[in-house]
Amino acid sequence: MTDNCIFCMIVKGEIPSYTLYEDEDVKVFLDINPISKGHSLFIPKKHYKTLFSVPEEDIVFLKKLPMVAKKLKETTEAEGVNIVQSNERAAGQVIFHVHFHLIPRWSNDGIIKFPEQGKLEQKTAEEIIKKFKN
Ligand code: AMP
Ligand code: ZN
Repeated sequence: MTDNCIFCMIVKGEIPSYTLYEDEDVKVFLDINPISKGHSLFIPKKHYKTLFSVPEEDIVFLKKLPMVAKKLKETTEAEGVNIVQSNERAAGQVIFHVHFHLIPRWSNDGIIKFPEQGKLEQKTAEEIIKKFKN
C-alpha cells in the first residue's frame, strides 16, 4: 500500500466508494466522474503504478475482469462495454494505481471513437517488428 494513493485509501476504506465487487485481490467501484451510466473502475488491491510494474505472477488479479465486465453489462442493460487502461501521463493516466475503466456502451452513444486511422506502411511495420524482437 502507498500512503498518498487515493485508490489505496479506497481499498483501506479511508475514502468511501460505491463498491460493486470485492474479493481478496480486487475492488470494483463506480467512477466518481462517469462518462456513461455504470462507468466503473477495476483495480488490484495491491498498489502498482502501471501495468508494467505488475510482476507476471501477480497478474492473476485480472482473472475476474471478464466476469465483472459481463455482470456490469447485464446490470446496466448496456449493448457493449469498453475496457480502457492507461499507462503513464502521456497516455492519459492521472491516478498512478493501475486500474481498468469499464465503460458500458450503447449504439450511437458517441462516447469513445478512435480518431481517423492511417494506413500501415510495410517499412514501418518491418522496423517495429525488428526492434520489438531485438
Ligand atoms: P485515469 O485518467 O485513467 O487515471 O482515471 C482515473 C479515474 O479515477 C477518473 O475517471 C476519475 O474520475 C476516477 N476517480 C478519481 N477519484 C475517484 C474516487 N474517489 N472515486 C471514484 N473514482 C475516482
Ligand atoms: Zn495505490
